[in-house]
Amino acid sequence: MKYEAVIGLEIHAQLLTSSKAFCGCSTKFGAEANTQVCPVCLGMPGTLPVLNKKAVEFAVKMALATHCKINNKSIFARKNYFYPDLPKGYQISQYNEPLTQKGYIDIEVTGEKKRIGITRIHMEEDAGKLLHGETLEDEGFSFVDLNRAGVPLIEIVSEPDIRTAEEAVEYLKALRDILVYLEICDGNMEEGSFRCDANVSIRPKGQKEFGTKAELKNINSFRFVQKAIEYEIKRQIEVVENGGKIVQETRLFDSDKGITVSMRSKEEAHDYRYFPEPDLLPLMVDEAWIEEIKGTLPELPAEKRERFVREYGIPSYDAGVLTAARELANYYEESVRKYEGQGARGKGQEISSSKVVSNWVMGELLRLLKEDNRDVKDCPVSPEKLVKLIRMVDAGAVNLKTAKEVFEEVYKTGKEPDAIVKGKGLVQVSDEGTIIKVIDEVINANPKELADYRAGKEKLFSFFVGQAMKATKGQANPQVLNKLLKERLGK
Ligand SMILES: [Zn+2]
Repeated sequence: MKYEAVIGLEIHAQLLTSSKAFCGCSTKFGAEANTQVCPVCLGMPGTLPVLNKKAVEFAVKMALATHCKINNKSIFARKNYFYPDLPKGYQISQYNEPLTQKGYIDIEVTGEKKRIGITRIHMEEDAGKLLHGETLEDEGFSFVDLNRAGVPLIEIVSEPDIRTAEEAVEYLKALRDILVYLEICDGNMEEGSFRCDANVSIRPKGQKEFGTKAELKNINSFRFVQKAIEYEIKRQIEVVENGGKIVQETRLFDSDKGITVSMRSKEEAHDYRYFPEPDLLPLMVDEAWIEEIKGTLPELPAEKRERFVREYGIPSYDAGVLTAARELANYYEESVRKYEGQGARGKGQEISSSKVVSNWVMGELLRLLKEDNRDVKDCPVSPEKLVKLIRMVDAGAVNLKTAKEVFEEVYKTGKEPDAIVKGKGLVQVSDEGTIIKVIDEVINANPKELADYRAGKEKLFSFFVGQAMKATKGQANPQVLNKLLKERLGK
């Protein structure tokens, strides 16, 4: 029997406000434990929460960016449960009247567009954090850090529209890109400011009813999301095929073993005994404010990607890579602007100037940034320097291979590309007399290869190119070298 998976994701995104959702405490990450707390977020009796307007604004931004309907009136509710990291004994959340609902985003998986529905985006506060004794001295103890208690979150709940682990990862990435573009969440999965739970079930292909789902928790990287879901689908199929039944439960992903393990039977909504938060008035968001927020939205990743394809004529793949982060897209656009602003390019260029820049940014630049785990805004190669270097290739001053080495040197030292080329004597040799001399030396040194080549073994041409390149330390102009070598070899 063929099965298909049905997957829905619940994402918690920490909003980048400077203070918490219902008090004035700082939200800064990494402070000493329990230094960013006050009677409100500690849940002391007699205190009252006051809603952070910035958090609402950020939630509205996300709703607008994901085509959600915004409810002019929404209600905060208490979600009751007991855990040492939750001092109040309840979390302020939203339940049956959330701020926004019924939206979607479009994702692309293996070249095909797919629309994933968003059921709702609601506001809530985070709980604190438990630290389980990691040093020998602390072994057997657990510690509570409440700095995170009360930090504003949005929970983004998807429709069960996702069918594969790849789609889940694409959806997650797209959502994170939007949050980061909007500058309302830093999207950092390791620090927990972007967290994902996945509801996974399977059903025979063609069946309409959903199967029983398991909720996967504790997945803190895109790679783990993929692995956890793939494992879970496989596990459920095995259970069913062996005549077993899937039980509704919460499972933890064990990233060391790459498996999911049962944690507890799944809570139902009624386990939380939701009721309207009596300390907060209904949240009223009027149309004028929504319009005002709409006016502040930047160009979002999907729009930017489409514009890059349209405006720069680059492949959709390139556009996707270049627009994944706002800073990178800006870097690219500035480089193209500078490059094209300097007039006509050198002769013999087969690809467009925007594609040339794209190749450099996607190739050399991203490779080095990735190795260093560095952000593009801290990149020592400014668009000016990149364009200077590309111009040197166009002008035949250096060949592409040398240019890549120079790029790396600029990246490491921040020096000007022409200074590096001069300093290291890397100037490309285009002078025909010099190249002919080298070619003759190479031909004389390899009589057997020459005879074989002339007898029809044309593959040996690249052998001669290689030898001549080696003799010029890679600095020969490849076009000139190829032309002269063909003449000299007599073919
Ligand atoms: Zn506080």
